Amino acid sequence: MREEYDDTVAGKQLSPESLMMGYGYRPEWSEGALKIPIFQTSTFTFRNAAEGKRYFELAHGTADAEDGETGGLIYSRMNNPDLEILEDRLTLWDDAERALAFSSGMAAISTTLLSYLRPGDVLLHTAPLYGGTDELVRGILPTLGVTSVEWEPGMSRAQIDVLLDEAEGDAGLRMIFMETPANPTNDLFDIEMARQIADDHSPEDRRALVAVDNTFLGPLWQHPLVHGADLVVYSATKYIGGHSDLIAGAVLGSAEVIAPIAGMRVLLGSMASPWTGWLVMRSLETLSLRMHRQTQNAQRVATFLDEHPKVRRISYLGLLDAGDPQHDLYKRQCLAPGAMISFEVEGGEDAAARFVDSLSLIHLAVSLGSTESLVEIPATMTHMGVPADEKEKFGVTPSLVRLSVGVENPDDLILDIGEALKAV
Ligand SMILES: *Cc1c(COP(=O)(O)O)cnc(C)c1O
Repeated sequence: MREEYDDTVAGKQLSPESLMMGYGYRPEWSEGALKIPIFQTSTFTFRNAAEGKRYFELAHGTADAEDGETGGLIYSRMNNPDLEILEDRLTLWDDAERALAFSSGMAAISTTLLSYLRPGDVLLHTAPLYGGTDELVRGILPTLGVTSVEWEPGMSRAQIDVLLDEAEGDAGLRMIFMETPANPTNDLFDIEMARQIADDHSPEDRRALVAVDNTFLGPLWQHPLVHGADLVVYSATKYIGGHSDLIAGAVLGSAEVIAPIAGMRVLLGSMASPWTGWLVMRSLETLSLRMHRQTQNAQRVATFLDEHPKVRRISYLGLLDAGDPQHDLYKRQCLAPGAMISFEVEGGEDAAARFVDSLSLIHLAVSLGSTESLVEIPATMTHMGVPADEKEKFGVTPSLVRLSVGVENPDDLILDIGEALKAV
């Protein structure tokens, strides 16, 4: 469909912000409706047997498409206009060839891992990871014969080489899965270095892939494909959805790398629903506005927290010092610091609990990236399932608070935080 949409004016390419309201859709397809209808249907009719046969041939790849032939709609587990148009729009921010929409971020991550990992394969992954990803990697992948190797913050290339050389999986490195910045600590990992590691450790007969969970900064403030990643993964529940009213996920990359994941998604049925697809498109229209405002707000809130005597070990990308190696990486890899802040409240677990209990405007809830600001305590909430020694190693202490800054008036946010800190 996207081939039919003119994304230029006077030969000049329009930016994603401008294209989010119309890209991939023409009102004349739907009685002139300005907005895309919700195609709330499980199945699509074929005009005749030959057409149905052709659509299936193209879907299964048993025939190649003729010039200009796009395939057809078959069944909403395989394709649906709300998903296809959403996917076309999602490709724009990261300049990807193809995107897939999923029913959740975890559906996107698990379908991606299951598409590529086989017994004997080695997976190198950054740590800490989002709680659900961590449980999948630690609890499920070993039962499928996949060996995981952990890349901890600050590890050198040489240390990672040793770990990979010692790793048991006899099929060799298949994938590097990165979360950068890491949740909840904001540690950055070097995507270009990951690309080199993947290339240097790829077995002769195949190329190891680099996948990046870009939920914290994407799709505006970090573009992993530019730095050599093959796949970008999102929990679209967060910034992309942005209103705390839907659960969705996405995976982006080249058509070639995405193809096996698209096939696996059909088998697992992990695609998003038409209604979710429609809601995410609604959200994409304001994505840039929201992320700009959230980042501005976060900078103000972080500065306030940084100067507050009851706050310590504040971690925010906008506060990195010039001499810090993480600062160099930030400059190379990120475009803005985003809106995720973590910090410890002086006085331990009880003080952190009193702080979050005393907030009025800011809600105590997991999730992030939404219009409203949210706080949570990772050690006892999102990262409950991470082993205690791991939590300690990564600084996920019981007094660590994670704050996702929303679009509210920043003066009100600072007022609320300041009052709650008085109660600590
Ligand atoms: C929330 C989150 C996920 C999981 O996404 P869901 O949409 O909740 O399934 C994965 N990675 C990161 C970094 C997240 O924050």
